[in-house]
Amino acid sequence: MNRLEPDRQGIERAVALLRAGEVVAIPTETVYGLAADAFDDAAVARVFEAKHRPSFDPMIVHVAPGSAREAVAKLARLDALNDEAGSVFDRLTTDFWPGPLTLVLPKARFVSDIVTAGLAHVAVRMPAHVVAQRLLEAFGGPLVAPSANRFGRISPTRAEHVVAELAGRVPAVLDGGPCEMGVESTIVGLAADGGLKLLRPGAVPVEALGSDLRWSTVDGAGGIEAPGQTDQHYSPATRCALLGGVVEEQDPATLRQLAADTEVALLRVVGDPASGRAALAAAGISVLDSRSLSPEGDLVQAARALFATLRELDDGSARRLLLEPPPSRRGLGHAIDDRLRRAAGSAR
Ligand code: AMP
Ligand code: MG
Repeated sequence: MNRLEPDRQGIERAVALLRAGEVVAIPTETVYGLAADAFDDAAVARVFEAKHRPSFDPMIVHVAPGSAREAVAKLARLDALNDEAGSVFDRLTTDFWPGPLTLVLPKARFVSDIVTAGLAHVAVRMPAHVVAQRLLEAFGGPLVAPSANRFGRISPTRAEHVVAELAGRVPAVLDGGPCEMGVESTIVGLAADGGLKLLRPGAVPVEALGSDLRWSTVDGAGGIEAPGQTDQHYSPATRCALLGGVVEEQDPATLRQLAADTEVALLRVVGDPASGRAALAAAGISVLDSRSLSPEGDLVQAARALFATLRELDDGSARRLLLEPPPSRRGLGHAIDDRLRRAAGSAR
């Protein structure tokens, strides 16, 4: 895989590949994406192929910076939104675009079924990463860009992760350095009547979006479905088990059961790695490694480090990873908790 510098030459090369219907891995502020021309079905099909992604899983379309209404004009039917929905669209895009908020909107007819997995809605986002923005501007059209990993595996937050995952399957990666956020975008469905539905917790805390908005918890609200949110996702190859809470407060017998008589590594979101290791050792468990994403308890730092640390532990010699959930599901804790739960759902 060709590693392209994020300068003018690298971006020109990436654009040439995209115009030729190829896929290119690109940096975004959330995780690295595998980009292809959203209006070229053969190119989109190549993304599914490279990722081994099942075709029932729809993709997020990325647009260049600028006016939100203009950016989504060829993708979404804003005319299908009533006045309330229209003003919710304006407010959310004013407050959060460019940035890690994906909106699911009624789809325009130009958008192919292969992008939306046959749904009547399309997911759109305007990334904040300057390299992604320059690429979108130079390319001159929207790009699909699901995370640049094999389907179901750990999302890449550095160019070298993409190389490790997809070498031989993808011609190039634009190297934009480590991703700032480290977890995927928050996905919100906006129904034609202005009702909102959280489809995936992510880098924008749902509390930040506005509690005065009309949130629906009902499945299928406004006809918006959320496919592809599988229980097993973001998964290391090593078996994972989710702890019921803070490791020092767990019952030793329960810990031994989760450790299943094998050598483990501990991953905490916050807190002291040494005291976590000591708690496991006191329960008679053999601990090869113990990590904390943010010993100081900073969830921004924790989210940024999440996938890279999972990957390092997966590459280590522990036979099982014990994952400690974040102290709460508030703010970024919601997205981190979601990713850890799904990683543990992988237990094979
Ligand atoms: P990612 O893998 O980060 O690109 O996110 C893709 C996810 O976005 C999918 O698995 C869906 O859950 C969600 N998504 C994408 N497009 C749609 C859509 N048209 N309707 C509902 N959810 C969508
Ligand atoms: Mg993904």
